[in-house]
Amino acid sequence: MADKLAEKVTRIMGQPEKIRNIGTIAHIDHGKTTFSDNLLAGAGMISKELAGQLCVMDFHEDEQTRGITIDTGAASMVHTVNGEEFLINLLDTPGHVDFSGEVTRAMRAVDGAIVIVDAVEGIMPQTETVLRQSLKERVKPVLFINKVDRLIKEIKLTPELMQERFLKIITNVNKLISQIAEPEFKQKWQVDVNNGSVAFGSAIHKWAMSVPYMKKKGLSFKDIIDAYLTDNYQPLSDKAPLHEVVLDMVIHHHPNPREAQSYRIPKIWKGDIESEAGKALLSCDPNGPIAFVCTKIVVDKYAGEVAAGRLFSGTVRMGEELTLVSSQKTYRLQQVAIYNGPKREIVDAVPAGNIIGLVGMKGIYAGETVTNSDDMTGFEALKHLFEPVVTKAIEATKSIDLPKLVEVLRTVKKEDPTIVVQINEETGEHLISGMGELHLEIIENRIRTEKGVDVKTSKPIVVYRETCLRKTNGEFEGKSPNKHNKLYFVAEPLSREVTDAIRSGEIFEGRVKKKEQMQVEKFTALGWDTKEAKNIQEIFRGNILVDSTKGIIHIGEIMEMVLDMFEDVMNAGPIAREPCFGLRLNLMDAKLHEDSIHRGPAQVYPAVREGIRGAIMNSMAVLYEPRQTLQFETPAAFLGDIIKLVSNKRGQLLETNQDGEHIMIKAKLPVAEMFGLASDFRSLTSGRGSYYLVDQVYERLPDELQPKIITQIRERKGLKLDEEQATPGG
Ligand code: GDP
Repeated sequence: MADKLAEKVTRIMGQPEKIRNIGTIAHIDHGKTTFSDNLLAGAGMISKELAGQLCVMDFHEDEQTRGITIDTGAASMVHTVNGEEFLINLLDTPGHVDFSGEVTRAMRAVDGAIVIVDAVEGIMPQTETVLRQSLKERVKPVLFINKVDRLIKEIKLTPELMQERFLKIITNVNKLISQIAEPEFKQKWQVDVNNGSVAFGSAIHKWAMSVPYMKKKGLSFKDIIDAYLTDNYQPLSDKAPLHEVVLDMVIHHHPNPREAQSYRIPKIWKGDIESEAGKALLSCDPNGPIAFVCTKIVVDKYAGEVAAGRLFSGTVRMGEELTLVSSQKTYRLQQVAIYNGPKREIVDAVPAGNIIGLVGMKGIYAGETVTNSDDMTGFEALKHLFEPVVTKAIEATKSIDLPKLVEVLRTVKKEDPTIVVQINEETGEHLISGMGELHLEIIENRIRTEKGVDVKTSKPIVVYRETCLRKTNGEFEGKSPNKHNKLYFVAEPLSREVTDAIRSGEIFEGRVKKKEQMQVEKFTALGWDTKEAKNIQEIFRGNILVDSTKGIIHIGEIMEMVLDMFEDVMNAGPIAREPCFGLRLNLMDAKLHEDSIHRGPAQVYPAVREGIRGAIMNSMAVLYEPRQTLQFETPAAFLGDIIKLVSNKRGQLLETNQDGEHIMIKAKLPVAEMFGLASDFRSLTSGRGSYYLVDQVYERLPDELQPKIITQIRERKGLKLDEEQATPGG
């Protein structure tokens, strides 16, 4: 079967108009995996009887035992409409928000998203999150309303009420699209039940319908209801097989790669659209320079690192020399593969517009661009929605396993770039940071079971941020050890608008090396002076460095060193070596030694570090803590208990909504108070409620907690407690 598939895929993959690259996105448990299995079964890749039980796309052991999808599985399939064959490259993404990094990355590779919504539950917090992620990458949504069988069997809706329920979901999805999408897509991308960009059905019973399909086949809502009332619903999957209806919808409503690249490239690629590479990318040209973006690394026992991703331009061939754009390292391509569930099928060559795997690109990471051209600009960095907020120390139970653990951690970080691995320089212990407790738990399990290293971990610790509240009084001087170089810095907080624009990816990060990388208009629109916007040297982790010096002759020669140390301090701030955010650092003036020998890194680095740290500490430096907005869903009887729980945890109640016997509560809680929340909540509601992450922000840690937390962190990190810089103020 696989050989036949490889042959078919090879035949179609050179015709972009016959390709659709799509992903499924949904709130957890709304049926994505069951749905994807249906599509694969329909394409003849697994048996129909097994679809829904096999969970082909859930191939990590964890996923099958926990029943949640964690990694993005990929599969290619061929579907025929009116005698024409189409190639569908499908990515299945996780619904749990701790794994939202996976969704962000998958959305780079696809052009269309199928938003799956449970008909009974309706739009849930993660529906909105994943929709946001897809629209940010200009990925076009269509809607699938799942679990319609439950509306009939459990809730016993009439045809009219059922249509009303659908309408409500459709209206809400469209409302979200018009809120989130960029102006040109707000209207254009609304889903519409009449044109077939909405389908509904039951993934578990393998049927689906859309209005055009019902018209074509003469089927009605009553047929569906009758089928369930008489307990004779199996024929539905023959009359209206899910894969047929859904893939028809995909082919009609999702763009082919050429069409999609014409509007996606200007958003996700930073280079010059008029250049040769720009034109090739816009037209998905198989004869253009190679531009492949890695969206995931899979570490395979046999093949080693496989870089999965999207080929936007050119044709990749086995044996070819390819370069990683950011590191400029060149490697020989050992294998090119197309996908088939978790399996890869090796092929000789693949042209632009496809989702593929490459073997042999050492050191590649998700987000990296691969090319065969000397002059290829990289793609926009992949911007994850949430940052890691929880850290654990991890060590091998047996010290003999330490080298193995170091290796495994390197692999884990590659497989999941939202994981941050650090070594505490003082204590030598390894630290892993992730998006939440569950995220780290699953990673730990993977290290134990799949990678075979027995590990123990510490209790989770919160990751804080450092920032300042006002502008430095005067300038802060940083002196080099030889006293011949002096640099003067001023720190100030960035406005909320600028921080938000960086966070949303509207303003992109990086060092400004060429004129095209300046984002002057975006800054002037946010109130910056044109000249200052032109002097921005780097945007890094939500912080900006501006060169405000005038007429310093050697400034250009030391700027790279200034930026190196700027990054260093932004990664580990002056208060407690936690990352900085929301800071603007201005280099105001510099006195530099005439002779370049006396202004090398050994002199400039300490001067910059001292100058920047000092400027921040003298601008009312404070710690910010991560807070998460959660949405709780429970029977109404628990309202009082939940309000008490929230207030006991320093939480803030944002919204409550009662719908019959059911309540929804939105509240914002400090991550520091959330450890153990899952079990507290479970026992409080006797397992009858659930909660989801809606948003994550950093906010000022209450003043009375600042000294205590700073001391705790500094002690943990083995930093001096009496160091002058540990006491914020000024
Ligand atoms: P995912 O977390 O979105 O991947 O969801 P799954 O595919 O794992 O499905 C979650 C649960 O919903 C499983 O127990 C499925 O059997 C069930 N499920 C999926 N589709 C349907 C459906 O159409 N009807 C009903 N009644 N249950 C479904």
